[in-house]
Amino acid sequence: QPAQPLLSASSMSAGYGGVPVVRDMDLEVRAGEVVALLGANGAGKTTTLLALAGVLPISGGEVAWLGRTSRAPLHLRARAGLGFVPESRAVIPSLTTMENLRLGRGDPEAALELLPELKPLLKRRAGLLSGGEQQILTLARVLAAQPRLLLADEMSLGLAPMIVQRLLSAVRDAANSGIGVLIVEQQVRNVLAVADRAYVLRRGKIELEGKAAELAGRLEEIEATYLTG
Ligand code: ATP
Repeated sequence: QPAQPLLSASSMSAGYGGVPVVRDMDLEVRAGEVVALLGANGAGKTTTLLALAGVLPISGGEVAWLGRTSRAPLHLRARAGLGFVPESRAVIPSLTTMENLRLGRGDPEAALELLPELKPLLKRRAGLLSGGEQQILTLARVLAAQPRLLLADEMSLGLAPMIVQRLLSAVRDAANSGIGVLIVEQQVRNVLAVADRAYVLRRGKIELEGKAAELAGRLEEIEATYLTG
C-alpha cells in the first residue's frame, strides 16, 4: 500500500444552509481498495460524497486529496483524477455509446476493457439502451477519464440484480487495477461482497467501521442497529 491515502477527511462536517448534516467524520480511501459507505435513508451518505468531491462546501474539518488539503470544486478535482458516478444515469441520449465514452476525455479503450459488454453497443444511440446499459455506460464514461479515485453514489438504484452484480464487479476490477473507490450502495450484502472496508453512518456520524468481511459476518445486527432509520 502507498504511504498516503488518495483521499482523507478529518473531522469533516458539511450540510445545507448552515445546518450540519454530517459531522466530525474521519475517513480515508487508498489506491486499490473498495470502501463502502453504509447508512439508512437520510443518514448523510450523499452529503458525504458531495462534500468529499468539493461540490458541497465543508463547514468544518478538512479534506485532503493526495495528502494536500483542498477545497477545489469537482471540475478541478476531476482533472486531478477524481471521478464521480452519479445516482442517476448520466448519458446523452442523442449521442452514440462511443460518443458518450469520448465525452469523458481520456481513453474509451480502458473503460471497454472493464466493461466489454458495451462493445457491441458502441454505435447505438445511448437513448436506445436499456436502463441497465445506460448505467453501465455512465460508469464507463467516468472510468474512461482514468480517475485515480471513484466516488459512486447508489449506481444500482432501480436496476435488475444481474446489472447490479456487473456494476459491482466492474468496480472491484477497477480497484484491482489500482483505482481507489468509495461507494454508496443500498444493497449492503452485495456491496460488502466486493468491498475491502466499510464505514457505517448513522444520523450524520460514522458509528462503525471495519473490514467488509467482518461486517458482513454480523450483518443482521448491523442492519437492525444502524441501517433501519
Ligand atoms: P438516501 O439514502 O435517502 O439518499 P443519504 O444517506 O444519502 O440518504 P443525504 O441525501 O445525504 O442522505 O441526506 C441527509 C440529510 O440531509 C437528510 O435529512 C436530507 O433531508 C438532508 N438534505 C439532503 N439534501 C438537502 C438539501 N439540498 N437541502 C437541505 N437538506 C438536504
